[in-house]
Parts: sequence; C-alpha cells; structure tokens
Amino acid sequence: MVDRLANSEANSKRIAVVESCFGAAGQPLAIPGRVLIGEGILTKLCRKKPKLRQFFLFNDILVYGNIVIQKKKYNKQHIIPLESVTIDTAPDNTEYDLRNGWLIKTPTKSFTVFAATATEKSEWMNHIGKCVGDLLQKSGKAPTGEHAAVWVPDSEASICMRCQRAKFTAVNRRHHCRKCGFVVCGPCSEKRHLLPSQSSRPVRVCDFCYDMLTAANGGRPIRQDQFNNSAVSEEDDDDDSSD
Ligand SMILES: [Zn+2]
Ligand SMILES: [Zn+2]
Repeated sequence: MVDRLANSEANSKRIAVVESCFGAAGQPLAIPGRVLIGEGILTKLCRKKPKLRQFFLFNDILVYGNIVIQKKKYNKQHIIPLESVTIDTAPDNTEYDLRNGWLIKTPTKSFTVFAATATEKSEWMNHIGKCVGDLLQKSGKAPTGEHAAVWVPDSEASICMRCQRAKFTAVNRRHHCRKCGFVVCGPCSEKRHLLPSQSSRPVRVCDFCYDMLTAANGGRPIRQDQFNNSAVSEEDDDDDSSD
C-alpha cells in the first residue's frame, strides 16, 4: 500500500501542506518515495511539564513541532530518522494524569509521549514499529542498540537523585545527567564526558556515570578544565526552554 501511495498526487499534496504549515523555517519534506503515514497531536513530556505537540509520521522520518495555530501553523520543527528509533510502552504519569504513553528513543534524544486514547496509542506504536521494521529490512541494518537517556522531569525530583541531600531551590538549580537522565545537583554533576552520539563536545554527567564511563574508558579521565564550559550546552533541553 505504501508503494502505491508513494507517487500518488494525494500524498504529494498532503506533504506540501505539512511543509507550508512549518513555513520557511522548516526543512523540505518532499523527497521521492516518502509517504505521509499519519498525523496527530500528542502530549510530549518535557522537562518542566507536558506540552501538546503536532506529530507527523512518514515512512522514514518522524516530524514534530510546536502548535502555533492548529492545523495551520507549526514551528520548532524536529526531524527524527526512524531507522534509529526504538519504542517502548511507558508507565502512566500520575502527576499529570497522563495515560497511553510510550517512549521514543534515539541515540541523540529520547522522550515520552502520550496519546489521548489507548486505541490511538496502539495505532501510533504499530505504525512506527512497522515503518522502523521496513526500513531496517530494506537497509539490512541492525536495530539501534544505544539510545540517549530519557530525562526525569524536574517535578519528579525535589532533592538530588544522586546524593539524596541537596534540596533544589531557585539558587540550587536542577541539572540533568546526559547519561542516566537523573535530576542532580551541581556538585554531583561537575564533570563532563564525551557521549559521541549526543554531542561532539563533552556533556554534563553525574559523578556516578562519570566513574562508570571513565572505568569503561580504561580509567582515562577527561578533565573539565580541558574544555570551555561556557560553550557547552547545558541546561537546556531542546524545544522546551522558550515556551
Ligand atoms: Zn547531589
Ligand atoms: Zn548519571
């Protein structure tokens, strides 16, 4: 069915509509063989709180963005190659009463989304799973083994998840370990380590992960002062900081 749709006029038109909704800041999406499988609004669990995002599933990529005007205008486009995606069902989120969730894990970034109903969730998961399977079969590649940690939302930690002592306040800020995703205090995450799939620069890791990583690295430490820390992207998660 996908192959038949691929060159259909309806498919080209739908893709052109998605492109126009993202405007000039979005990437061109129409390439030969690409098919728009489905679209919908999902709740993305962000660092501070859950937010609605518009998602588009193509046969080779997953695209999402912030909703400026529903069905008309989106911005902050993100494109995830499906070949590197693994999905997993996620537990309910009691704090925000979110159900029907699953994890979207990739080597560079992983996060949780929630659908409005169980049916929608299973449709999304089935379609994503099928697209990933088809891509891997075509390319002969193995599924991605490593993926970025899913960040624990700020609200789930009032104290540092490593030392269990430091209480977070306006001054004593929360940080995220890029390796385990825990919310940790500054003193527990002073070191940086290279995680090549996430960044070309060393990124913030907690002391626990740092020790694991350096041990795995043959005990060769990477000193923090070897890098210009101000240039290291720190606090901010992706699309979520500015809105
Ligand atoms: Zn701590
Ligand atoms: Zn860690």
